[in-house]
Formats: sequence, C-alpha cells, structure tokens
Amino acid sequence: MSTVETVRGPVALSDLGPTLMHEHVFVLATEHVENYGDTWWDEEARVADAIEKLRALHAKGITTIVDPTVWGLGRNIPRMQRIAAQTPVNIVVATGLYAFGDLPQQYAYRGPGLLLDMPEPLVTDFTRDIVEGIAGTGVKAAFLKCCVETAVPTPGVERIARAVGRTSAETGAPITVHTSAHEQSGRTALDLFEAAGADLTKVVVGHAGDSNDLDFLMSLADRGATLGMDRFGLDIFNPGADRVRTIAALAARGYADRMVLGHDANCFIDYFGAAHDAAKAAAAPNWHYEHISDDVLPALLEAGVTQAQVDQMLVANPARYFTR
Ligand SMILES: [Zn+2]
Repeated sequence: MSTVETVRGPVALSDLGPTLMHEHVFVLATEHVENYGDTWWDEEARVADAIEKLRALHAKGITTIVDPTVWGLGRNIPRMQRIAAQTPVNIVVATGLYAFGDLPQQYAYRGPGLLLDMPEPLVTDFTRDIVEGIAGTGVKAAFLKCCVETAVPTPGVERIARAVGRTSAETGAPITVHTSAHEQSGRTALDLFEAAGADLTKVVVGHAGDSNDLDFLMSLADRGATLGMDRFGLDIFNPGADRVRTIAALAARGYADRMVLGHDANCFIDYFGAAHDAAKAAAAPNWHYEHISDDVLPALLEAGVTQAQVDQMLVANPARYFTR
C-alpha cells in the first residue's frame, strides 16, 4: 500500500481524498514572534482558531491540505502536531527553504568548495527531514519547497533549487516551487530541477495560475510538470473569473491531469501584525480555505469543466504527485 507522510503519520494515498495542494496554516517568523509578538500573537487563541477553520474546511468535503511552510515562512512542527491532533484534516508538511535572494548565513559558509568544505548541507538537512523526520518530532516531510521568483536566479536561489532538485532525485520526494507568473520563472525552475536530475512529473509549478497565458502554461505542462492553480482568492495577482476561465480552457485542451487547486491561504500570517484580520479581509475577502468549495468549484462546472475533471484536479493528481 502506497502512503504519504502527514503530521499524524502515514496515510494511504487512496485515503487522501479531496486535497488543496497549497495552503499554509501559519506564516509566522520565529524571531518576529519572539521580539514583537507580545502585542499581536496569542498562541492559544490562534491554535484554537486554526483548529476551527480546518474543521470547517473538512465539513466542506476537503480531507487533506498540503502545507509548504518551510524555513523562511516559520515552520514549527510541534505547533502543527497540536493542531493536527484536533482536526480530521490530513496535513502534509514540507522541507526546503523559502528565500528570494541570498541564502541564510547558516548555509553561506558551508558546502562544496566553501570556507567549510563539505557535502551540500542543504541536501543533508532536506534529506533528514524526509527520511528521519523533522527536529526530533518524528513527523516526516513529504515534499520539497523552494522559490524561483525571477527568470534569472540569484546564486543563492540557484543553489537552493539545485539542492531541492537533487534531494528529489535521491529520495523520490516531489517538489512545489514558488514562481512568478509575470517573470515566467517556472521555466527557470524546471531547468534547474532538470539539471539536478529531478523528475519533472514530480514538480508542481506553484502560482502558475497567476498567469492566463495558455501557451506558457502548456509549455510547462508539456515538460511533465503540474500547474499550481493555487491562489484562488488572491485577485490582486489574477482575478478569480480569469483563473476559472484559464482552467476551463486548459481542461478543454486535455490538461486536467496537469493541474491542482489551492488558495495559498492561511489561518494567520504575521505580515500585517495586530491588524491581521482586518487587513486580510479588506485586501482579499475571498482569501480563505473555503472559497474553492463554496465558489470556485461551482464556477468551474459552470464554465464547462466536468465533475470528472474536478475530481482529477482535487483527488487523482494529488495522489499521483505523492506516489513514490
Ligand atoms: Zn504559499
């Protein structure tokens, strides 16, 4: 029986069910909380709020979320274990590094040919998270995450992407990469992963759904990659109606097996401090876990996407992605 690792342990791929492929629970920087969080962070209240939001999502029929929160976004597995213990939703967690430019100093001086000449520590750390588990919690990462924001990557971004590609090739763990549709950096990301030996059929090009350029999107899918149509509710990057139209057009051309869905939403993100809830609601009222279930799926059906294609994007494609 094939399984995928979740916060509560392995789950049969056949039991994943309807899956949102890119959702954060918390985006919350440790140092930010430790130094300024006394004015805006209430751990107990926010944990309880997350449990409630995940239970509500489950009531809508979504049984799994895939959370690419890694170093740089505030991964904290013990907190996730508390939440996962009290919600029926499966939560799949990641390893990797969220950086747009430079590497953290903790990796800048260690590595092949560097001051401390040693095997690539990024690969060592990512592999440990996948094979042994994260930080002594016993929870294993099921996929890799990194960022390729620009068409021409910085040296730091390139090193991380190569390490992610190599770890994927060596462990079989799939990849989700943050990309910019405007920069069309998905191409760059696939080039870097391919050069590192990764299987591009195991890659989700995150935020591909910010683009409505069908030729660009098909060019990624034709290399085997899956398109992350994963920012529903973030109309500032691409209005929801356009996102729906693009998915319908791609499905009509036979690409339903190369798309997955998500909001890139969260229960709390520390970018807005104490004004979090008001700021988020004002800027993006549909940016929450239930928008796809409530609004997007009916709109897709209305636009001519079949129920079978919806099931493929929500159930079959996620299960295939996590098949080793
Ligand atoms: Zn994200």
